Amino acid sequence: MRTTALIVGAGHAGLAMSRCLTERSIHHVVLERGEVANSWKTERWDSLRLLTPNWQSRLPGYGYAGADPHGYRTMPETIAFLECYAQVISAPVHTHTVVTSVRRTDGGYAVATNRGDWQSRVVVLASGACNIPSIPALAESVPRAIASFTPAQYRNPAQLEQGGVLVVGASATGVQIAEEIQRSGRPVTLAVGEHIRMPRLYRGRDIQWWMDAAGILDQGYQEIEDLARARNVPSLQLAGYPDHRSIDLNSLTAIGVKLVGRLAGIRDGKAQFSGSLANQAALSDLKMNRLLDAIDAWANANGVDDEVQPPHRFEPTRVEASPPLSLDLNRGEIRSLLWATGYRPDYSWLHVPVLDRKGRIRHDGGVVDSPGMYLMGLQFMRRRKSALIDGAGDDARELSAHVAGCLRSTPPPAYVNRSKDYEVGQA
Ligand SMILES: Cc1cc2nc3c(=O)[nH]c(=O)nc-3n(C[C@H](O)[C@H](O)[C@H](O)COP(=O)(O)OP(=O)(O)OC[C@H]3O[C@@H](n4cnc5c(N)ncnc54)[C@H](O)[C@@H]3O)c2cc1C
Repeated sequence: MRTTALIVGAGHAGLAMSRCLTERSIHHVVLERGEVANSWKTERWDSLRLLTPNWQSRLPGYGYAGADPHGYRTMPETIAFLECYAQVISAPVHTHTVVTSVRRTDGGYAVATNRGDWQSRVVVLASGACNIPSIPALAESVPRAIASFTPAQYRNPAQLEQGGVLVVGASATGVQIAEEIQRSGRPVTLAVGEHIRMPRLYRGRDIQWWMDAAGILDQGYQEIEDLARARNVPSLQLAGYPDHRSIDLNSLTAIGVKLVGRLAGIRDGKAQFSGSLANQAALSDLKMNRLLDAIDAWANANGVDDEVQPPHRFEPTRVEASPPLSLDLNRGEIRSLLWATGYRPDYSWLHVPVLDRKGRIRHDGGVVDSPGMYLMGLQFMRRRKSALIDGAGDDARELSAHVAGCLRSTPPPAYVNRSKDYEVGQA
């Protein structure tokens, strides 16, 4: 089977690109190993809500039209939103089609799947940034009696035995899951490394509203001094609770969560924590306050001050003066462990030499270092919001223009003139 452009993945990023290619009359298919919105259907925990408000899920030609623009979607609502989008834009999605290999050929790419092979001049990798939970090597030293979970395996606290739970990682995933497990009656110890504290509301407005209005989310990848670092910063400590409350280390200790430093090692069943908890918390407070300063300056310069509440600052993070530096995992106090240590993409099927030594794709704002290959949906790919639903539209518009230019400038391989070869006639 042949097509002009082939998109791997029918998450919001692949769908946004599909819509933009359709607008440019570029024939394409979207290959999806599961169903539309597969990651949200199969890899998320039950209570998760988007941490971006409803108004902020803007996709090309589609957005929120309901009565609660400031609410946060549940998982079933998120799935329905994306399924509806796929229908509205008539995305040519081939479901249950697993891409098993992508190789470069003379005229573009050969793509093998469990349902036949494709040839395409352009390939867009929209297969997700969070396919595999990143688990540190020290996980091998966790005593066998402790049940370990990744966020992709975790659904709700009822999965866990009664007893203590060690949650490793205090970014969006870790703090949300730690709170729900603690509230279920299982005492949580939270190992805290680098994290980004962020209030849900500031001066009466959602923090995402501020970052959107002030242009922070639109900041481009070429404006950033340390791009590698920007692409690796942890997610914001945010949750989409219906009552718009914040989640941070203070709110967790208030319900009884015990904080320790970053998990640095496990020796003879004893977990060892770094002594940097107080420093990490202070640094996070400092960075949050810098962002709030920038927001205040923007509000002042743009005449917004009168429409919102006055500036204020939040109570500093409270941490124990000497938190424990070790915890004996053999003692039976901890029964379960959750690795909230981040995610990474899976490119095991990509047989094109575009990966650097850390396994990351070499690209310039989503234009991969291989002619006719593109990326979508990675953190800070073209702008700060690239990995968010709201960021896919601008990225897809710009990259689809690049795709069109690439198709114009490279002579089509012999097969494109034989239109009968196209699965669905060239758009
Ligand atoms: C826990 C969590 C919470 C998040 N919360 C928010 C939020 O509140 N707001 C927000 O804007 N963003 C949020 N994000 C970030 C981001 O929106 C999601 O990661 C989103 O799923 C990324 O969209 P995507 O289309 O790039 O990837 P995905 O949604 O992961 O889509 C990729 C698709 O590719 C398919 N695929 C992968 N490999 C293959 C293959 N070999 N063959 C065929 N198909 C394949 C997958 O099945 C999947 O359907 C969150 C992410 C996580 C992990």
